[in-house]
Amino acid sequence: MRPTVFVNKFFFAQDAIQQLPQLLKPLQNPVILIDVNLKNQIPHIVHDSFKNDSIIYIDTSYEPTVEYVDKIVADLRTKNSVDGVFGMGGGSTLDFAKAVSNLLTNPGSAADYQGWDLVKQKGIFKVGIPTLSGTGAETSRTCVLMNKAKNLKLGMNSEFSVFDCLILDSKLSKSVPKDQFFYTAMDTYIHCVESLRGSFRHAIADALSIQALDLCREVFESDNLMSEENREKIMTASFFGGCAIANSYVGVVHPFSAGLSMVFGTRHCVGNCIVMNVMDDFYPEESKKFREYVKKHNITLPTGMAKSLSPEQKEKIYAATVCHEKPLVNALGNNYKDTLTPSRVVEIFERM
Ligand code: ZN
Repeated sequence: MRPTVFVNKFFFAQDAIQQLPQLLKPLQNPVILIDVNLKNQIPHIVHDSFKNDSIIYIDTSYEPTVEYVDKIVADLRTKNSVDGVFGMGGGSTLDFAKAVSNLLTNPGSAADYQGWDLVKQKGIFKVGIPTLSGTGAETSRTCVLMNKAKNLKLGMNSEFSVFDCLILDSKLSKSVPKDQFFYTAMDTYIHCVESLRGSFRHAIADALSIQALDLCREVFESDNLMSEENREKIMTASFFGGCAIANSYVGVVHPFSAGLSMVFGTRHCVGNCIVMNVMDDFYPEESKKFREYVKKHNITLPTGMAKSLSPEQKEKIYAATVCHEKPLVNALGNNYKDTLTPSRVVEIFERM
């Protein structure tokens, strides 16, 4: 049995970003990875606290790949010994920072550590600064990476992937586009639904998921989706959701979303929403509620992307979906492949 590891410490307040100098004090050569989309809206304190060549912009137009992580790590290995890795952005950037921190103390390539408990040594001191909440990446024990050579989307699932510290400042999510905010917040909602509807039970994970789900519902049912109060609620829900997932599993939505990622490069959170839209067979109530929320907040949801798959794509998308054994067993039982036959899986994708 493995122990549950939570984030050691965190600052949770508006303007918590001002605590940055305090965290940097003991460090000699920290670096910060920032989502390139934030380039023009980085708080002054970040520029004041890091040397220019210690700010690394991460291209997040695709989910992080093992090759991209390896490239950044190779660059950092040539620098003075890095003693702190900060990640600022959404789930992808946070996952990126976790992977980089792990690889700076463990030899080899990111692909060597995709799986459960393969990381041998604690990584470099790492701090997460989410600017968008919902993935739970800030508190989870994994960092999800794409491995195209293996047609696999899998994380470094390890207690060493947990951040040492977080700066949770809801002001940082103020200028996020509404659709993006919705998709990402919905990730927490979906995690919790999948976890609570699954067969694998854990009392603490359940309690955290129930609380997170309540917060999500309050936000989705309110009129002003991105009010200050709601941004703080989603930040809290995401935190709980990430903690819960350490002791629970997702279900049917995430594997299908991973299939979309592998074949179309769809981003995680919008992918989950595309899938949730057609999950009436598995999560009828929640799927219906989801569509109500989309309508209420006037969210644009991509549709029809998997309408006409080629035979090769069908094969690939099926394999990239059903390979997620743990969540699918959690949702559908050991014989999940009897339910998710190739033709049924393809039919579900075609409905999206
Ligand atoms: Zn997710």
